[in-house]
Amino acid sequence: MSKTTIIQVAIATPLRRLFDYLPPSGVMAEDLHPGCRVQVPFRNKSVTGIIMHITDHSDVPEEKLKSAIACVDKTPILDSHCLKLGRWASDYYQYPIGEVVVGTLPKLLRQGQPACKKPITAYQLTELGQGVDLDTLTRAPKQQDALRLLRQQVNPIARHDLADVSSGTLKALVDKQWLETVDVIQSPVPRTTQQPNYALNDDQQQAFAAITESLGAFKAFLLDGVTGSGKTEVYLRTIDEVLKRGEQALVMVPEIALTPQTVKRFSERFATPIAVLHSGLNDRERLDAWIMAQTGEAGIIIGTRSAIFTPIATLGMIIIDESHDGSFKQQDGFRYSARDLSLIRGQMHKAPVILGSATPGLESLRNAASGRYECLKLTQRAGHANLPNYRILDIRNRQLLDGLSNELLAAISDHLRQDSQVLLFLNRRGYAPTLICNSCGWVGKCQRCDANMTLHMKPRHLHCHHCDASCRIPHQCPQCDSEHLHALGLGTERLEQTLSEQFPEAEVFRIDRDTIRSKSALETTLAKIHNGKRQILIGTQMLAKGHHFPNVTLVAILDADAGFFSADFRASERVAQLLVQVAGRAGRAEKPGDVVIQTRNPQHPQLLRLIHEGYHSFAEETLQERKMARLPPYTYFAMLRAESHDKELPRTFLQQAKTLASELGSDGVFVLGPIASPMEKRAGRYRSQLLFQANQRKDLQSLLGPLSKTLETSKKSPYLRWSLDIDPIDMF
Ligand code: ADP
Ligand code: ZN
Ligand code: ZN
Repeated sequence: MSKTTIIQVAIATPLRRLFDYLPPSGVMAEDLHPGCRVQVPFRNKSVTGIIMHITDHSDVPEEKLKSAIACVDKTPILDSHCLKLGRWASDYYQYPIGEVVVGTLPKLLRQGQPACKKPITAYQLTELGQGVDLDTLTRAPKQQDALRLLRQQVNPIARHDLADVSSGTLKALVDKQWLETVDVIQSPVPRTTQQPNYALNDDQQQAFAAITESLGAFKAFLLDGVTGSGKTEVYLRTIDEVLKRGEQALVMVPEIALTPQTVKRFSERFATPIAVLHSGLNDRERLDAWIMAQTGEAGIIIGTRSAIFTPIATLGMIIIDESHDGSFKQQDGFRYSARDLSLIRGQMHKAPVILGSATPGLESLRNAASGRYECLKLTQRAGHANLPNYRILDIRNRQLLDGLSNELLAAISDHLRQDSQVLLFLNRRGYAPTLICNSCGWVGKCQRCDANMTLHMKPRHLHCHHCDASCRIPHQCPQCDSEHLHALGLGTERLEQTLSEQFPEAEVFRIDRDTIRSKSALETTLAKIHNGKRQILIGTQMLAKGHHFPNVTLVAILDADAGFFSADFRASERVAQLLVQVAGRAGRAEKPGDVVIQTRNPQHPQLLRLIHEGYHSFAEETLQERKMARLPPYTYFAMLRAESHDKELPRTFLQQAKTLASELGSDGVFVLGPIASPMEKRAGRYRSQLLFQANQRKDLQSLLGPLSKTLETSKKSPYLRWSLDIDPIDMF
């Protein structure tokens, strides 16, 4: 007797489980495969899911099982590695399996569209067209030329490859039925490539040898080298070896829009098609790039964090560039770390994983120290052993001109006089962070957040950077009617204005999210800066990423203090990375720039250590402190957050969760809280948090699995939202 076939399907829903169905009617068991999409009835709707397993057993009685409606794919669109990665991520991050597996597909696939690239219209000659005697066309020379050209083609030819033929001519040929249009899937044309004319230096050679030796097996490498030390060159050469093995390479970068030159450098070097995956794509472009990765057509896949879930037929190596960057962690919804998942994925595919950075995260440094990662250092490229020339400016009790000390103004003036560029870093957009009434002390606050509204002048408005609310700037104080409203503090917009007034001879560029709203805007600005002289560049952290400005000889950090005094234990690591990254934007290899740091804490030990002994010394010391304080990476954290319009609900819910945790038996796990989040009210919701801490990951996992399942099904107010963040990178 043949057994019943049951398909277990992942569906994008918050329920933490798979759903059992019978096969669609008429479909044989052998035509069903894990990784294929199926249409299934779900809550009176037809939805697209992914088959995870095929089995002969269900906990649901057979007569209650519904049949799937139809198979969408004949062959799997997700390979077994991807399914396994999805399951692993769902278990580890305690996030519903369907949201993980289906939620990370390109939108068009979620909607059930075919998993293939968009066909384009191409032209080919009909039999009639093939038979025409060209000599009869002497009075229609354009048609004659076109036919001659088309006869040389073996395959249908795309419109853009027929640039010499006018649309009128094509139409005439189609009208005569000599030419017809067909839909074809186009492959990118191979490009010509440029190879570098230099050899790797010894450090690079060693790194190259270690990585290529481990191709075909999993191994993790930390490629540690400052900006300009030649990391990208090592990526490129090792990728070449991967391609020679007939495999593909996945390159993960923090933000593609900010680093267009990375993609350019890769595409200049390799003839293989490159699939680029980032948030700026439209649905069709995303699917096409995904397909190129999945089918193996693209030898190289460059993407931001979500690219980690792309099926890659023959994945042979993963590179995480700027691996310390916070953007590899998703901060809402499915809160995964693409960096950590890349290591899991590397193990599955038996592929080496390279974490590159000038300022490796403390987790990575600890893994390198313990031997879990092999550390490859690039120190050789000239000048880079030298630290930049740091100078600390004590701004306590100083008269400042819009945040600028006299010493700094003098230094800017000096450097501009030498026709150099100056870069000022201030991580605060807008004109001023606070609008205050000089008469009564009223402050412009956001109605929906525990935060002040930022004053913007171009265009004039108040804007909350936390919830995006905006409103008009009042003419009078809403509290005392005084007209003495005052912009307090400094943002990039104000800095731009002040510097333009102070240094009329210099061109001033501001690079932040308000001035740079698109990739092309960034490219235009960067082009103006590239060969510029006597320019002042003002930027937020947008400027700290990727770009190198060889003509910048002075970098100034206007306010270094915020990070070293934050309540978040990771803040000093982030500030240190930012400082080093910003400092690294300046100067050439032979000639590091001057870096001026304005601070009200000139004796701060972490700051001094960073600038006198360098990032690695800072990192070592900070790791020691973390070890003493039992903080990550020496312990493991998870954060349960709750929020609601009702102030009490989150705290009550978290208190119940805490009780539940102790009932479930939380051996080895400390539960701290609940407490109000540091910014309790945000976008109209009150937020609280409960922190779980353990010495071992597995203790955390064995508590959080059952806990999240119970929380999911427990009775709670529909107005309450909750989320679990495993390995949170910020404590808010
Ligand atoms: P990183 O990625 O660490 O910032 P890159 O690989 O971009 O460093 O190298 C910085 C610059 O030095 C690039 O212009 C690159 O072409 C060049 N470069 C890299 N390696 C070498 C080498 N071995 N010899 C000469 N130039 C090199
Ligand atoms: Zn007032
Ligand atoms: Zn707000």
